[in-house]
Amino acid sequence: MILVILDKAENHVKKASLEAISYAASLGEKSGQKVCGIIAEGVSNLGDLNKYGMSEVYEFKSPSYIDTQQWTEIISQAYHLLNPDYIILSNNSLGKSISGRLAVKLNLALISNVIGLKKNVEDVVIQKSVFSGKASAWYRLKNAKGILALMPNGYGLHEQKGSDTKILNLDINIPDSKIVLKDRVLIKGKTPLSEADIVVSAGRGMKDPSNWNLIEELADLVNATTACSRPVADSGWRPHHEHVGQTGIAIRPNVYIAIGISGAIQHLAGVNNSKKIFVINKDPEAPFFKAADYGVCGDLFEILPKLNEALRKAK
Ligand SMILES: Cc1cc2nc3c(=O)[nH]c(=O)nc-3n(C[C@H](O)[C@H](O)[C@H](O)COP(=O)(O)OP(=O)(O)OC[C@H]3O[C@@H](n4cnc5c(N)ncnc54)[C@H](O)[C@@H]3O)c2cc1C
Repeated sequence: MILVILDKAENHVKKASLEAISYAASLGEKSGQKVCGIIAEGVSNLGDLNKYGMSEVYEFKSPSYIDTQQWTEIISQAYHLLNPDYIILSNNSLGKSISGRLAVKLNLALISNVIGLKKNVEDVVIQKSVFSGKASAWYRLKNAKGILALMPNGYGLHEQKGSDTKILNLDINIPDSKIVLKDRVLIKGKTPLSEADIVVSAGRGMKDPSNWNLIEELADLVNATTACSRPVADSGWRPHHEHVGQTGIAIRPNVYIAIGISGAIQHLAGVNNSKKIFVINKDPEAPFFKAADYGVCGDLFEILPKLNEALRKAK
């Protein structure tokens, strides 16, 4: 059995977890194992998971918020009850916080940043992104069991024909949390950065946070999520959850639009796996142009109002 850890946002399974099911289905096809999942109760679209190849999903009763220590305990209890060969989860913020703990607790090998699976070979060979996305490497697990943490937007969603997903109950004892949750603010309305198809991002070239209306307008027009470079977040111009790069979030959108960002190596480390990169910068020597698929060399304060105007007219 392959066990997928399903993460939810409000009452829906997150896209990153659907990707994890897609990956598990490919692995299951190769290794002849069925794909099962575990999830906290209260999700309305569980029946749709068969679209991605899930045969059974185990629901467990839970408090409204589960912290990372509780998640580790839940998954290790599920592991001992269900005895899966592989545990698959997304390498998103939840996955990053629990996969290492799980590997130690269950004494299992862990491969993080998984992006693919080698077809046409007899055993399981796993592709992993390395050196901040500059290269990929192929790994083979020495033992038959292991944990695979899948890079968000790394494998994609693959629908397939399937029969209904069976929904079952899983009896788990969740320990009390050692952490007191004081407040929780949900960022609503936008696709989270790690799941966004289009990202509009800006840097210090914007000069002042009051100019971000140009970026927000462009993002609204192309239905994108906004991001920023690190100094922008460090100086409080934008919230920290928008900071992308080596020390921020690593993303793989279909389109990344970088405006007034130099393209320093630490920034590129988090965005250079984007499928298409568009750059607007007034400096023809800006390093970002080397990584760009399309570039406009010019003053963003002249280009953006015209671009937004043209997009508004085209709508
Ligand atoms: C250990 C470490 C980790 C780091 N991690 C990260 C990270 O995760 N993410 C990250 O982003 N950075 C990171 N950095 C910082 C990184 O090295 C750069 O300093 C940072 O990315 C630069 O941000 P910027 O491009 O917004 O600003 P700048 O370097 O100031 O560049 C601004 C750009 O805007 C252009 N510009 C200015 N005015 C205009 C205009 N009117 N029109 C068009 N273009 C204009 C300029 O030509 C320039 O290219 C890290 C650094 C270190 C040492």
